[in-house]
Amino acid sequence: MNAAAASVLTRLDALRSGFLTRPQRLFIGGEWVPAQSGETLTVLDPSTGRPLAEVAAGDAADIDLAVKAARNAFRSGPWPRLSHAERGRLIYKLADLLERDADELALLESLDGGNPVRSTRHVDIAMAIESLRYNAGWTTKLSGETALAAPQSRSFSYTLREPIGVVGAITPWNAPLLMAVNKIAPALATGCTVVLKPAELAPLSALRLGQLLDELGLPPGVVNIVTGYGAAAGQALVDHPDVNKISFTGSTRVGKLILAGAAVNMKRVTLELGGKSPVIIFPDADIEAATQATSQTIFFKTGQFCAAGTRLFAHRKVFDAVVRGFAERAHKLNVGPATAPESEMGPIISQKQLDRVLGYIGAGKHEGAEVVTGGKRIDREGYFVEPTLLAKVRPDMSVFQEEIFGPVLCAAPFSDASELDELARLANDTSYGLAANIWTRDLALAHGLARRIQAGTITVNGGGREQPMPFGGYKQSGLGREGGREGIEAYTEIKTVAIAL
Ligand code: NDP
Repeated sequence: MNAAAASVLTRLDALRSGFLTRPQRLFIGGEWVPAQSGETLTVLDPSTGRPLAEVAAGDAADIDLAVKAARNAFRSGPWPRLSHAERGRLIYKLADLLERDADELALLESLDGGNPVRSTRHVDIAMAIESLRYNAGWTTKLSGETALAAPQSRSFSYTLREPIGVVGAITPWNAPLLMAVNKIAPALATGCTVVLKPAELAPLSALRLGQLLDELGLPPGVVNIVTGYGAAAGQALVDHPDVNKISFTGSTRVGKLILAGAAVNMKRVTLELGGKSPVIIFPDADIEAATQATSQTIFFKTGQFCAAGTRLFAHRKVFDAVVRGFAERAHKLNVGPATAPESEMGPIISQKQLDRVLGYIGAGKHEGAEVVTGGKRIDREGYFVEPTLLAKVRPDMSVFQEEIFGPVLCAAPFSDASELDELARLANDTSYGLAANIWTRDLALAHGLARRIQAGTITVNGGGREQPMPFGGYKQSGLGREGGREGIEAYTEIKTVAIAL
């Protein structure tokens, strides 16, 4: 056994004899409490399909307590009244605690969510730490504005930026800790308080985050964590009249329910929803790099990644080379349990999601798509599916229109590289608009297409979005942005004050 595997085993033993043995409670008002109903839910390890942990199944009664705790902390607790620098200091300290426990958090995230430990440590946990530090920096930089000081004006106006209040954060299972942090960090930075409802399928890292918040000594009620089912706990948070904002990441279907529910008392909403992002490869591109990156984003999180490039448009001249390159990589890919250091792709999160992915592949075949590689469940314990490439797809097929959320790439060639309007029409022919990836050495072409594509993030030649840049979707991929100035300002209300001079 090599050193990496031995170190994972030691940490696994520690988790299995510690954190995972205890039924996990809810974190409300600074206390760890069982659900008032006494109900629990079992969390499964997607790499084996076996039980991993028990967590409390909170419902509307627990959400009500958590919202009351968050409201008290906002109304009369110290958190919104701390100096900006002091709030920033505590958020930086939380980042340090995450960094201290990064290996353990990564392993827990891998066990629970099924993503290979090599990526949870260097992507999920690393990005969560970065997000905390980025948002901590904003505590001392947010400000309002004053109107131009015209000498003849009889009025002096300025804007006040105020924390929005109690934030309900509802997060998915594909990047549980990072998604929780991406909502908690800007909320804390602006002086808001939070009730977090993690996904039922992967709630453990959020609970471990709760322990770190506890250790940090955050005032009681500033962050509350209620695990439970979406239809019970999640919906109760959306419906609660004393919540000011819902920040949600998940499916477009639930996003629409949240938007409708939030309308009742006009809660503010930020929605990060699904995607069906195009990858457009021009004949002059670095085909090796384009194929490598396109494969990686489909294998990353087993394709359970909202911004994954899932619709491949490669120019006819390079189409076969791209398809061949993807198939070779898929064959060589090390698919295995998330905690094995050598695994490059893990399982799908659950049996239900696996059935859904296989259902889409079946529907694609039925409608005439050709399976170039993959297409089947892998015969082993856990919820594994082969990395899959479907060719001969048409824009009207469900596999080309709907979010599959699995390692399934759908490929179609295009012929005329100079017809930017036509290419943009192909790329935009979906109800989603989260991301797009362009591969060409011709920068005029890249800029021209970037302007025409309706998507919140466009990468050219594999560029990575940096921390100050906002992330979010056009069309049914969401509402509002996370990250950057837009992301943090979404946790504030703005007030204009006008004084007669
Ligand atoms: P959901 O959108 O159902 O889940 C996301 C979060 O919302 C979870 O915490 C969930 O709770 C909660 N939720 C569910 N129903 C409600 C409700 N009525 N009110 C409030 N909160 C609710 O995603 P799924 O897990 O069902 O995944 C299905 C599909 O969604 C995937 O195949 C994928 O296409 C898409 N998806 C997209 C993601 C993204 O990053 N954009 C992330 C996850 C999924 P609970 O866990 O208990 O259901």
